[in-house]
Amino acid sequence: MERYGLRYEGPIYRPPSEAQSLLIQATIGCPWNKCTFCMVYKNGPRFSIRPVDDIKDDITRARKALGIGVRMVFFPSGNTIIMKTGDLAEICRFTKETFPHLERITVYGSAQYVVRKGFDDMKSIASAGLSRIHMGLESGDAQVLERMRKGSTPEQQVEAGRIIMDSGIELSEYVVLGLGGKDRTKEHVSGTLDVLNRTDPDFIRLRTLLPKINTPLLEDIDSGKFELLSPHEVLRETYDIISGLDVTGLLISDHYTNYINVKGKMPEDKERMLKDVWKAMKKPETSFRKMYVGDE
Ligand code: SF4
Repeated sequence: MERYGLRYEGPIYRPPSEAQSLLIQATIGCPWNKCTFCMVYKNGPRFSIRPVDDIKDDITRARKALGIGVRMVFFPSGNTIIMKTGDLAEICRFTKETFPHLERITVYGSAQYVVRKGFDDMKSIASAGLSRIHMGLESGDAQVLERMRKGSTPEQQVEAGRIIMDSGIELSEYVVLGLGGKDRTKEHVSGTLDVLNRTDPDFIRLRTLLPKINTPLLEDIDSGKFELLSPHEVLRETYDIISGLDVTGLLISDHYTNYINVKGKMPEDKERMLKDVWKAMKKPETSFRKMYVGDE
């Protein structure tokens, strides 16, 4: 696919908060590609890292097409943090030079790859201009992470979070409500709270599990191995997570999968958000979106 002469291979996937960002593809696909709930790259393309010269060429083409006013750049695809430290730093530096008004450079990064890089490498990438990482925590419960084949442990999630924040990079953490199913909802909540409270990320972003076609998790649901939570049960998790949070960042549920849109700064907006969730829990379950969409 080409737009403004920029090249892009595979599905375009970015967080809603990057809707205004210029997307410059740095990696293709996901190097992990095993999470059982994720459909994004299950049909390919195979993971690869684009040559630095090609990425810089696209940055230059974007400047020709859009001018110098670009303020936010996101480098897809999944786990661009896996690039060699020197290469990632180089494209960040080049982007900053090319767009003098730049305010933010962002990538996706899973905990295991951040831990593998370590503090010194992350610090040098931060100095080159990387300013925000979107990290899929998904759950802080070890068994849920293992069952979902996330590839990281709760301890790695905490370590990665601290490395990112100590490097001066903003941390945006994603939590998937309902990911523990009915049998591990309590552990999903308590483990997630433990990781979030020990990390205190800049952003906590809530999503609700909505099974997708072409995923191993959907097979588990169809065979009865995994039981989805009802809307009220998901709202209960939402309530318990907000209630147990001891953090100072923003909590946002900026996603179509959620049964309620809560947003607020912690801790000052905690009580208001809890009231909003409580009110939603009083609504009949039939008033929410379908729990399960098996053909999307
Ligand atoms: S790391 Fe992200 S993109 Fe890769 S399989 Fe897991 S959820 Fe999907």
